[in-house]
Amino acid sequence: SAPGGAVTTADLPLRENLRGASAYGAPQLSVPVQLNTNENPHPPTDALVEDVAESVLEAARELHRYPDRDAVALRTDLAEYLSGRTGVALTVDNVWAANGSNEILQQLLQAFAGPGRSAMGFVPSYSMHPIISDGTDTEWLPVYRAGDFTLDVDAAVAAITEQRPDVVFVTSPNNPTGHSIPLDALRRILDAAPGIVIVDEAYAEFSAAPSAITLIDEYPAKLVVSRTMSKAFAFAGGRLGYLAAAPAFVEALLLVRLPYHLSVQTQAAARAALRHADDTLASVEKLARERDRVSAALAEAGYTVIPSDANFVLFGRFTDAARAWQAYLDRGVLIRDVGIPEHLRVTIGLAAENDAFLAASAELAATEL
Ligand code: PMP
Repeated sequence: SAPGGAVTTADLPLRENLRGASAYGAPQLSVPVQLNTNENPHPPTDALVEDVAESVLEAARELHRYPDRDAVALRTDLAEYLSGRTGVALTVDNVWAANGSNEILQQLLQAFAGPGRSAMGFVPSYSMHPIISDGTDTEWLPVYRAGDFTLDVDAAVAAITEQRPDVVFVTSPNNPTGHSIPLDALRRILDAAPGIVIVDEAYAEFSAAPSAITLIDEYPAKLVVSRTMSKAFAFAGGRLGYLAAAPAFVEALLLVRLPYHLSVQTQAAARAALRHADDTLASVEKLARERDRVSAALAEAGYTVIPSDANFVLFGRFTDAARAWQAYLDRGVLIRDVGIPEHLRVTIGLAAENDAFLAASAELAATEL
């Protein structure tokens, strides 16, 4: 066994709030049909792969030097992309970037939450929000969504008013339920929040709903919008997340970020991937059409389908979701048990993958799961 293997975490002087906690654990299994982590199933084009390779090759000549600590060129490109998408004239000063939006969220909690402070989220939602809260020793305050998984704005405002969280997370479209939040509902949450509101827009490109970025000028001291290249940009392996907010937020994050957190390879590869944004984002519309096809076919087979604005669908009802998840896996289809009783979540894949998923679903509809 490994040296030191006799010691368990119970023997370590771990912080009290991490004792007994579970790590993020989406299973990484090698099966024919992988529809479990909301990636874009379309592989990068040859042109993109070549551009990334050439850019990283050039960047490698500078590997003896630290990278641009503030990733100015990359942030400029991201600002330009967001401005084009939202019509809001963002500059480099409005944008910050990190290794995935998970790191963005962690930096935000390091700066604006932590011991003695709290973060609220509307659950079920993205499982990393409470995990990052735990990791930064922030008290996590979950508020339940309505029975149909939509965000009950009255209940949200009441909970914010009563519990006064330092940070409010709003995921839009929400993972794992797929709903987007309308801007007027978001305004009510922003008006009620005593601290900051992080709108996690990891799946924004899949939705036609207007971005919270359009509200930054209205709520400059409160609103942060988090984005990622992991989903629509098909860049999950490249690890690049970013945010848009008033410049003061970017200044605040400089206090907690580790120097040189974005490697020269990451910065070069992300900039190359962004140059192919039009090509890559063309897959988004295809995925939205596939999502609608899968949703309709599931409903046809007798499942309950939660309407989704993203590249995944939550569906049910199973007597035993864990057993149903295993039954899909036994048929070579890996989907996700997100811990919501009677429901499972499927990521929209390529047409053939979706067909395999639907064939398994039709088979399972006839059984007692
Ligand atoms: N936010 C949400 C809502 C997500 O679903 C995910 C990915 N599962 C992320 C953030 C983090 O993605 P990444 O760190 O790859 O940007």
